[in-house]
Amino acid sequence: MKPTLPFLDLTPSHDEIREQLDACWKRISETNNFVGGPEVENFEADWASYCERRHCVGLANGTDSIELILRGLGIGLGDEVVVPANTFVATAEAVTSAGAIPVFADVDPLSLLLTADTLKASLSERTAAVIAVHLFGSPVDMPAINEVAAAHGLAVIEDAAQAHGARWNGQRVGSLSTAASFSFYPGKNLGAFGDGGAVVTDDPRLAEQIRCLANHGRALGSHTDHILDGRNSRLDSLQAAILRVKLSRLDDWNDQRRAVMASYRRHLPDQAELVEAGPAAEPVHHLAVVRVPDRDRVRATLAERGTASGVHYPIPCHRQPAFASYARGELLISEVAATEILSLPMWPQLSEENVVMACRQLAESIERVGQGI
Ligand SMILES: *Cc1c(COP(=O)(O)O)cnc(C)c1O
Repeated sequence: MKPTLPFLDLTPSHDEIREQLDACWKRISETNNFVGGPEVENFEADWASYCERRHCVGLANGTDSIELILRGLGIGLGDEVVVPANTFVATAEAVTSAGAIPVFADVDPLSLLLTADTLKASLSERTAAVIAVHLFGSPVDMPAINEVAAAHGLAVIEDAAQAHGARWNGQRVGSLSTAASFSFYPGKNLGAFGDGGAVVTDDPRLAEQIRCLANHGRALGSHTDHILDGRNSRLDSLQAAILRVKLSRLDDWNDQRRAVMASYRRHLPDQAELVEAGPAAEPVHHLAVVRVPDRDRVRATLAERGTASGVHYPIPCHRQPAFASYARGELLISEVAATEILSLPMWPQLSEENVVMACRQLAESIERVGQGI
């Protein structure tokens, strides 16, 4: 049976702004301004200001944006970059694409995020940078990470692909490091109608370098002078226009996600333990992650009862075939968590009624599986 409650539904968000979204397409089909231009510049200005940073460079996706930060900072061959083992593989891919070596760090047992201690345990003479990933919409304790980084001369990068608008102690994610990367993949809290990404930073030279790299290495303002060996990783005008419309709704949608999470807190069964960050975190709940016993069987039973779910992520990066050669031993917190975590349905307009239903079905599934039925 196909689950009746999906894992994610983008339609209610798009319904709220349908006319404005349609107008984007119309405007661009009339101006024929497809790549770069005012739509992109306007979105970049809005996104920089939203993230409380001076500069934003729109890019093709969130993976390129991490890689281009590394390249822009001159991090590459022979450099080690610490990344959490519990993240989407894109974080690690960006490191190897830049020519550097990913060093996987374990995570905090409660939030499942990188910590100053797990970072320290992963340092070597060759460590050049750390990428803190605000996973599930929860911000990492960046002041603690920045302190370790300052003591060891490391560059600090935020991978904020899952945390548009989150704050740590009142400060926006994206403004807590040298440079931060965002993804606008459709399912993210701020999503385009296709792939998209951005870097935000206060460093004008880094922003300029990344813009140049992403535009075939062209010198700023020139079409024919290629000063760097770059690539094509630009944000489309259509995506920028869509993102600008959706940005006007982001804070409300994040508030609604908080209300959905509050409802999960009220209704979840005791055997399902919510994965949450500490009190200084102001998360935006990209995902609603719980830990449950016998996860795979509980998940299958839950689907039979009608609720879809996800697993983010079933295999920690250092255990993925593509990255296993970089593993330097066990990272037990990440490895155990990967067998227990389950992501429940989450989107801004998810009704309390549906949360109650999902929680009831989860309680029943845990009970049935526990009884060996
Ligand atoms: C989505 C995501 C990325 C990659 O973004 P793309 O736009 O899909 O390339 C990187 N890191 C994390 C944590 C993500 O969730």
